[in-house]
Amino acid sequence: MQRLIFEPEHEQFRDGVRRFFQREIAPHGERWREQGYVDREAYLKAGKLGYLLMWADEAYGGAGVKDFRYEQIVYEENIRNGELGFYINLHSGLVAPYIGGLGSEAQKQRFLPKCISGETILAVAISEPGAGSDIGGIRSHAEDKGDHWLLNGSKTYISNGQLADLVIVVARTVPDKRSGLGLFIVEAGMPGFERGRRLKKMGMSAQDTSELFFHDVKVPKDNVLGDPTQAFAYLARFLSCERLIASVGSMAAAQTAFDLTLDYVRERRAFGRPIGAFQNTRFVMADLRTQLDVAQTFIDQCVLLYNADRLTAEVAAEAKLFSSEVEGRVTDACVQLHGGAGYMEEYRISRMFTDARVTRIFAGSSEIMKEIISRSIGLDDRKMN
Ligand SMILES: Cc1cc2nc3c(=O)[nH]c(=O)nc-3n(C[C@H](O)[C@H](O)[C@H](O)COP(=O)(O)OP(=O)(O)OC[C@H]3O[C@@H](n4cnc5c(N)ncnc54)[C@H](O)[C@@H]3O)c2cc1C
Repeated sequence: MQRLIFEPEHEQFRDGVRRFFQREIAPHGERWREQGYVDREAYLKAGKLGYLLMWADEAYGGAGVKDFRYEQIVYEENIRNGELGFYINLHSGLVAPYIGGLGSEAQKQRFLPKCISGETILAVAISEPGAGSDIGGIRSHAEDKGDHWLLNGSKTYISNGQLADLVIVVARTVPDKRSGLGLFIVEAGMPGFERGRRLKKMGMSAQDTSELFFHDVKVPKDNVLGDPTQAFAYLARFLSCERLIASVGSMAAAQTAFDLTLDYVRERRAFGRPIGAFQNTRFVMADLRTQLDVAQTFIDQCVLLYNADRLTAEVAAEAKLFSSEVEGRVTDACVQLHGGAGYMEEYRISRMFTDARVTRIFAGSSEIMKEIISRSIGLDDRKMN
């Protein structure tokens, strides 16, 4: 279905972005997946072309683009034509906004220019061995020591954990209050900041996902983002955008899986005919096409709501829930239509299937999305007896 949200200038922009991912990113994908992380140069190349933090103001070296559709195009093209493990969306759309949105003028001047150029790579460390969905259960803690904060704790499943130069760490600052959390910018090389294992995963092999440890890290007061007791509210504010970005990614992946399966079922033959001629294949593909068009229309509408500053947490949760579930269903059906080839690593669909599994878990699991949505319609377990 034709997507109406894009103007000719967006499509023109997409052409250049697509070429960048095809030429500069995709050719390295296999090597990156084998080594388990992306080369730093990927960020520098994207930065050079102005594809990082496009929303950041010109004063810091950004393009000052407030229309999210341009970012959407970058994220879509990376998934379709680049390499999923190149976490440009995490860097630009999930982590940097904490600095752009909560940072003081001095912090923005100090940190943003190198994030925009790609010299600084970002990560955000919320999850811990004992606390993922339950952010209120975070045990990493920071103590106010007058001229600095003393940070201790451990984090796990942190994307860009090995590569990151700056990590935004969520830590408890008010001991007995579940929401008493702060955001601390920890820089590579700070004494006491150590990286643990690069974790082996089912999919997303080029994305480094790691453990991080903090032993008596002295975090200067200048590295605190916003009010050091208000991170719970800050996270809720920024997670809507994170969920929209996750939805954009799920749709791009699902659309790509569909397209390559359409090619496959036209070519592959069984019983003297292309497998695409069997009624089952045609009906499955018709069903997937319908699910994709319906879901994409909703996600595009969410992008417009976000542009108008009207995307609510519950609608962002609906977007994340629905798009990730569609991605799961589409990639599963596409593997089935590939037959044995769908199980072979040399076929991209097999990778897309394992890559897709995580989207129902991270950035808030499907169950947590349902919690948010059900509460928004008045079914709030905390207020019901
Ligand atoms: C590849 C990858 C990359 C990641 N990157 C990052 C990152 O960069 N930074 C970061 O901080 N974290 C990251 N994470 C962590 C991710 O956000 C968490 O895994 C996710 O929030 C789920 O938390 P958990 O793993 O602790 O699962 P748990 O919270 O233990 O959940 C286990 C199961 O219980 C369910 N459950 C939990 N609470 C409820 C409830 N109230 N009602 C119903 N069901 C519930 C969940 O839905 C899930 O099915 C990443 C994870 C992965 C796999």
